[in-house]
Amino acid sequence: MADLNLKHINKTYPNGFVAVKDFNLDIQDGEFVIFVGPSGCGKSTTLRMIAGLEDITGGDLVIDGKRVNDEEPKDRDIAMVFQSYALYPHMTVRENMEFPLKIAKLPKNEIDARVDEAAKTLGLESLLDRKPKALSGGQRQRVAMGRAIVRHPKVLLMDEPLSNLDAKLRGQMRVEISRLHEKLGSTIVYVTHDQTEAMTLGDRIVVMSDGEVQQIDTPQNLYDSPVNKFVAGFIGAPQMNFIEATLKEKGEDVFVTIANHDVKLSADKAARLKKKGYKDGQEVTVGIRPEDLGDAPEMLAKFADSTVEGHVDVYEMLGSTSNLYVNVNGQQITATVEPDTPVRVGDTIKLAFDNNKIHIFDKDSQENVL
Ligand code: ATP
Repeated sequence: MADLNLKHINKTYPNGFVAVKDFNLDIQDGEFVIFVGPSGCGKSTTLRMIAGLEDITGGDLVIDGKRVNDEEPKDRDIAMVFQSYALYPHMTVRENMEFPLKIAKLPKNEIDARVDEAAKTLGLESLLDRKPKALSGGQRQRVAMGRAIVRHPKVLLMDEPLSNLDAKLRGQMRVEISRLHEKLGSTIVYVTHDQTEAMTLGDRIVVMSDGEVQQIDTPQNLYDSPVNKFVAGFIGAPQMNFIEATLKEKGEDVFVTIANHDVKLSADKAARLKKKGYKDGQEVTVGIRPEDLGDAPEMLAKFADSTVEGHVDVYEMLGSTSNLYVNVNGQQITATVEPDTPVRVGDTIKLAFDNNKIHIFDKDSQENVL
């Protein structure tokens, strides 16, 4: 069992730089939690504080009910997989994997059994006598994971473990890590700056920016209900469109004026906006996901009251979908549409969207107000 609690965790580096501010998170036993955010947001610092590689300057780190702030890394029952793999080049795969168990002074037969078990789990049996330089990047990554799991740690930490691999191999290793988690059932905390990795691997995702947690939620909830513009822009690819717009009241109805076009909001959205004090003429940012925009005739017919019009600047064919980059009154809007769209660069097109799926962000606080 390994519950992990981060209570008001702070990190101020000796030079005074505050890298992590009031981080709160309860991780359940067996959960796969991802820390995601842009470079420098404090995700590695937080992971390294959990590992004991970095001092915690404020708050409590609790593992299975015990405060471990002052415990040495080796006494925390945590294993970490690094981006660089950190394998010993002069040792074989077997020796690399045995190493932490020898340090822990386990008996030889137990060491052999654990290494064989991990090698089987990770498909490394035929590579046990090779040195790291005779392995591919993906194989090295598996050895690094093997060296972590032989210890049967309570918590497995991974810091950007796939970022040295090419895109295809990253995809394959993502599936392997998911399988490994299913098989071991261990608690995993995983750091990445890649939102696809976060969305596909995590039970829950912690989105960070500038040392602060922005939102902690399941992948689906982050996608459907981002709390602010930062999360909305970070989760989802291509990125959500942000369009400057103005609110307009006509009787009971509320519209958003996007590029001179009034789009009526649902009664529910209108009521919520009014309740929050938003008024006629107020400027807001409208968020629409590229996949919620469409140029197909049935979409244009169904959502005839919520459309924008513009010139196609760029057309990208991706196989199963196409991306259109459309200039709407000087604002660029991306639409992910069917691959067989007849639209090409230079065309003037209309894009329709379901007005129930739009998000509205406050211009000042950038919070999602719907
Ligand atoms: P990346 O994806 O680039 O690794 P990250 O989100 O993991 O980014 P951290 O490595 O946690 O970011 O760094 C967070 C911030 O703390 C950065 O601004 C970094 O420059 C700063 N930082 C890291 N180590 C130190 C240090 N020893 N002294 C001062 N500042 C540091």
